[in-house]
Amino acid sequence: MNSPSLHPVGDVAVIQLDNAPVNALSHATRQRVASELARAEADPAIAAVLLIGSEEFFSGGADVKEFNTPAMLAEPHLATLVRAFERCPKPTIAVISGTALGGGFELALACHFRVGAPDARVGLPEVKIGLIPGSGGTQRLPRLVGLETAVNMIVSGEPMRCADLANTALFTRIIEGNLLEGAKAVAREVVANRMPPQLARDRPLAYPHHEAFLGFARPMVRAKAGAYPAPIACIDAIEAGITAATFDDGLRKEQEIFFGLLQGSQSRAMRHVFFAERAAAKIPDVPAKNPTRPIASVGVIGAGTMGGGIAMTFLNAGLPVILLEVAQEALDKGIATIRRNYESSVRKKKLSQADLDQRMALLRPTVSYDDLRGADIVIEAVFEDLAVKEAVLRKLDSVAKPGAILATNTSTLDVDRIAAYTRRPADVIGLHFFSPANVMRLLEVVRGKATAKDVLATAMQLAKKIRKLAVVSGVCDGFIGNRMLHRYSAQAGYLLEEGCLPAQVDGVVERFGFAMGPFRMGDLAGNDIGWAIRKRRAAEGHPSTDGRIADQLCEMGRFGQKTGAGWYDYRAGERTPYSNPEVDAMIVRHSAGLGIARRKIDDREIVERLVYALVNEGACILEEGIAQRASDIDLVYLNGYGFPVLRGGPMFYADTVGLMEVVNAMRRYARGAHPQPWTPAPLIAKLAAAGSSFAAFDSQKSADAIS
Ligand code: NAD
Repeated sequence: MNSPSLHPVGDVAVIQLDNAPVNALSHATRQRVASELARAEADPAIAAVLLIGSEEFFSGGADVKEFNTPAMLAEPHLATLVRAFERCPKPTIAVISGTALGGGFELALACHFRVGAPDARVGLPEVKIGLIPGSGGTQRLPRLVGLETAVNMIVSGEPMRCADLANTALFTRIIEGNLLEGAKAVAREVVANRMPPQLARDRPLAYPHHEAFLGFARPMVRAKAGAYPAPIACIDAIEAGITAATFDDGLRKEQEIFFGLLQGSQSRAMRHVFFAERAAAKIPDVPAKNPTRPIASVGVIGAGTMGGGIAMTFLNAGLPVILLEVAQEALDKGIATIRRNYESSVRKKKLSQADLDQRMALLRPTVSYDDLRGADIVIEAVFEDLAVKEAVLRKLDSVAKPGAILATNTSTLDVDRIAAYTRRPADVIGLHFFSPANVMRLLEVVRGKATAKDVLATAMQLAKKIRKLAVVSGVCDGFIGNRMLHRYSAQAGYLLEEGCLPAQVDGVVERFGFAMGPFRMGDLAGNDIGWAIRKRRAAEGHPSTDGRIADQLCEMGRFGQKTGAGWYDYRAGERTPYSNPEVDAMIVRHSAGLGIARRKIDDREIVERLVYALVNEGACILEEGIAQRASDIDLVYLNGYGFPVLRGGPMFYADTVGLMEVVNAMRRYARGAHPQPWTPAPLIAKLAAAGSSFAAFDSQKSADAIS
């Protein structure tokens, strides 16, 4: 059933929000709730109204899909419904179970009374999609829980447990045990005692020094928010609630701010990311209910940079880990690093000593493959060398139990080839973690030719458990992210050859919003990694001119921060980059050697060439079916490579610029010193010519998958 329903219970009407899965307040739901409320109002037998949801969700809030569509403003829109519950001549009581978020919580805030289960959670998460609460949340919540708590909740967007708000005016009662029965009892008391409505709007915002508090909060919020406008806008709206002449003036100000943000490019980008994250979990030919394999224990092979981080990720999720190394010394070193990382978290008070002890107790170090016999999944993170991987996979195949998942963390090697080293390629999958694996949220789940559907479904489920954002990729050199990065890095190198210096490129890219420019990123990750990959490719018969300057840098021994010198110099213990005249002179000499007359390159060209190089490769990846959708590519770049969230990812950004504009720019750059990468990918050329977009391509594809 997809409708709220009115159950008169004695003289108490129960209106149930019933729009699975999260009780979003879609137009249809609002219409039904409003008419149920009107019926209850009109029915003389009804003395009070309870508004309830499901056990898991009172309501997840407004239907974000309706934003910027006519359905959002179709009557009764949310503000109308909120007003109806507030003005109802009969007592309205919100009964909060599960989770009440955003518009759903705002509806509850307008009711005359609220009751909640102790573990239910309430919150206003709009800030996470670049908005502020738009249906009175910034006006009513401070009046019910106090200014400080409200500012914290609204600016962070984080929900709170009802029990933790029990001592505020938010709740008439926190109900242990049967929530509905308890709520009905409250309703009867309200009716019997003729209790007047306890409206948030009637409560004064009793905070003696609001100017001082907001004056203190504002710079802190601004510093943390950086380029994000919504957190400060939350403070503005809350302040309007205090300073406006009337409550309704405050509401109007909140609406004005809300709609301003709603139209803005930043909230659009954040909403794109919101939907992208939900879409990424869907795999067209693997239904959500596909069987999965149980995972109760994990094996990790290799206790280096990645293996250690991967082990920590599973330990953090409470899963036991057997960590295998080739020799005792390397094993001891790996375990010591894990312990040191946890100890540092304890020192920073991010982890308790008990948690540290518990996690280390779940970790079993070994140098014997026999210990991996019982593992449900084993992830190898040994050297990026096919011969080493082959030896490891063959050995693993001989010891792992039937049905165990065998995963590789390779960054660039062929997962199908790795799978073929075993007698069970259907059980093999790529799990490409990013460094540091215990911190970075992205996980590329690499689906091999033979990977079984239940193995893929298990990997997706496991990703959730270890709090990673999983994006499915097909097999190709570099998968989604590193394959695109390759084009981006090549373009950065060409910019140096044509006239830029590292600091100029990094500065422009960072002003665009990237966490780090390409050269600072190279210094952080280690320039020798790309050097090794280029050497391998050359040995495999694929030489390239892309990394010529980077090769020279490595030949100078400048591998990056780890050697104290890369594209920049680094002082001991510092991460601040300082330009190095020898590097800059090497770059200028290199251009002369190629016969390129260096020229001044403006900011726009730098951004376009770097970002459109990503977009063009992304379009190839999409067309080849390596990525399932353009929005998946955006997620990879946002979560693995520091692309600015406020720009929504490279493919979304290209859509906002307009694909024809992007293609025209590519054609312009094709007339420059490095024309070869600028042939528009057939998909982008086709979409541009049709006046279409990557978003439309995604929608069409998902419609095709459903039909
Ligand atoms: P690393 O050199 O830090 O660690 C590799 C570890 O594997 C070493 O401790 C080594 O002793 C161990 N090892 C080597 N051969 C072994 C064997 N036969 N049996 C058991 N252990 C063995 O390397 P890393 O950076 O952790 O990379 C590991 C893998 O992860 C590579 O495939 C790499 O491409 C991939 N990867 C690396 C990154 C990164 O940023 N470093 C990111 C994603 C994926």
